[in-house]
Amino acid sequence: MSKTIFTGNFTQQEPIPEAAIEAAVAVMRSGRLHRYNTAPGDDGEVAKLEQDFADLVGAKYCLAVASGGYAMGAALRAVGVAPGDEVLTNGFTLAPVPGAIAAVNAVPVFVEVTEALTIDLEDLSAKIDTSRAKVLLLSHMRGHLCDMDRLMEICDSAGVIVIEDCAHTMGGAWNGVPSGRHGLFGCYSTQTYKHINSGEGGLLVTDDAEMMARATMLSGSYMLFERHRAAPPPEVFAEIKYVTPNVSGRMDNLRAAILRPQLADLPAQVARWNALYRTVEEGLRNTPGLQVIERPEKESIVGSSIQVLLPGISAANIEAVVAGCKARGVELKWFGAPEPSAFTSRYDSWRYAPAQSLPETDRILTGLLDMRLPLTFSTEDAAIIAEIIRDEVLSIRTAA
Ligand SMILES: *Cc1c(COP(=O)(O)O)cnc(C)c1O
Repeated sequence: MSKTIFTGNFTQQEPIPEAAIEAAVAVMRSGRLHRYNTAPGDDGEVAKLEQDFADLVGAKYCLAVASGGYAMGAALRAVGVAPGDEVLTNGFTLAPVPGAIAAVNAVPVFVEVTEALTIDLEDLSAKIDTSRAKVLLLSHMRGHLCDMDRLMEICDSAGVIVIEDCAHTMGGAWNGVPSGRHGLFGCYSTQTYKHINSGEGGLLVTDDAEMMARATMLSGSYMLFERHRAAPPPEVFAEIKYVTPNVSGRMDNLRAAILRPQLADLPAQVARWNALYRTVEEGLRNTPGLQVIERPEKESIVGSSIQVLLPGISAANIEAVVAGCKARGVELKWFGAPEPSAFTSRYDSWRYAPAQSLPETDRILTGLLDMRLPLTFSTEDAAIIAEIIRDEVLSIRTAA
């Protein structure tokens, strides 16, 4: 019997919707690409996007910026992180997160991950006690939300400020509260691999007027903050405008125009992602040697990627699973590889940070497989993918 082969492309996103293309062409025809180059009576696409996004997540204020990394950097700077300060963050995340900490010359303190792929709250408490950190840059890595109520209790009672990295959770929620709305700031990315696509881009939300005034000045508002819609009133800028440097990182009207129709489609897209996710999850459940990550009832997920654990598997065997799947067209990323490759670098490859030991994270990442689920896949594709992975995991076990 010949083996099933999958022929889909794991990095092929959907085209930009026609409405977004038309909006982008209109911006180009106007020549007004800079966010503050607006025509009389028109706030421009960036200000409108900020208002749309603030409304979507129920935030008072929103700022659109150049990237998700920029959003995190602006948040860290706005809360007053200074050179040499320690900042808590996840041991399991991706390079822009410790990179944002390093960009303000602060020092990442990595916290362990659990088998739910969320931050280990016990280790967080311990590191709040043993470090000097007063800020947590919390990464909802691969869309997994920890018990946010418990996390906020821990951080609030210790006086630790929470900044959320929601690059993988735009559209998700914990216990009905949108991701990014528990901490002081929520940071999002609109890069091509995230949930809405403008090539590059980021969004920052908060309810704190002073914090948003600082972030707005940082982004490079040239004293034109009165042209924003989802910004605090001008009086909040009275002092802040003199003492906050311009570290240009604005979004432009072209990207905002591309994003607004996609934002309107986000709930429908989330439903499509989750259909793919649940299909793969069901197809893999009850595979001997493979553990699906059970999602808590309080979590509203966005299944744009899926992770599974192969607990206790050897490096050679997991490499064989990855190779077996790859030969059949299924691209898995292994987070246990010793060398960083593509998007899968890990905490011990960020050597600008002080060396740290995270034995639980090491153990979990050694058996962790990760896969994107682009919306160009159908649920039939998702079922085939699950069948191939299941097959390859079982064949390793049979060979062993
Ligand atoms: C993509 C990503 C970001 C933001 O990245 P940008 O490329 O700067 O928009 C932040 N955190 C994680 C975990 C990411 O994957």
